[in-house]
Amino acid sequence: MPETPWTSTDRVEFETPPPQLHVSGHPLVRHKMALLREASTKPKKFRELVRELTWLLGYEALEDVRLEPLTVTTPLEEIPGEVLGDRIGLIPILRAGLGMVDAMLELLPMAEVWHLGLFRDERTLRPVEYYNKLPDSRTVEVCLILDPMLATGGSATAAIDVLKRWGAVRIKLVNLIAAPEGVKAVIEAHPDVPIHCAALDRQLNEMGYILPGLGDAGDRQFGTGAG
Ligand code: URA
Repeated sequence: MPETPWTSTDRVEFETPPPQLHVSGHPLVRHKMALLREASTKPKKFRELVRELTWLLGYEALEDVRLEPLTVTTPLEEIPGEVLGDRIGLIPILRAGLGMVDAMLELLPMAEVWHLGLFRDERTLRPVEYYNKLPDSRTVEVCLILDPMLATGGSATAAIDVLKRWGAVRIKLVNLIAAPEGVKAVIEAHPDVPIHCAALDRQLNEMGYILPGLGDAGDRQFGTGAG
């Protein structure tokens, strides 16, 4: 077994859920999560479910974005309407976050997409940045970090660090499954960042995988797992 900074004895349990954590209770989300977790779900179906779940979670995560007034001319009358006032950046964490981009772009066709490559060093479980496509200046008001799994919180915390150094002010995390350990790590490092997810799972195993989880979200989307 490789030496890791993680041990399963570091179990985290919340007496009361932290206010930053938003776990969707929507029946459609719960239904789709059951299908997603199922080990027999093949990559094509898995990708469809990731896309549908991202759509639903994105809808919830964008609940408080700013609107601007505008006048709408219907075929019959003029009425006051509203359009999104906040510009939004999507930051998928490579590679597993890629499967969440299209769904978010369907909701927000005007969003910018900045890829951030962080891989998890399998020995240390710590994030290593290998790709960063953030623009030179701040062009958006809200940044959504997309990553299906919030496990140790290492990648999420590193991504938030990168975004804050770059000048981002409002950052939200959108995950499908969060581990309590990851939630705690993110909240301790960045208490201003809300976490929107479909499920809060029990714990991490000694390899940093979420239990009960769904396995490796990248492998399951892209068919690269063993077997
Ligand atoms: N990344 C994954 O893909 N799955 C986990 O369980 C943890 C991290």
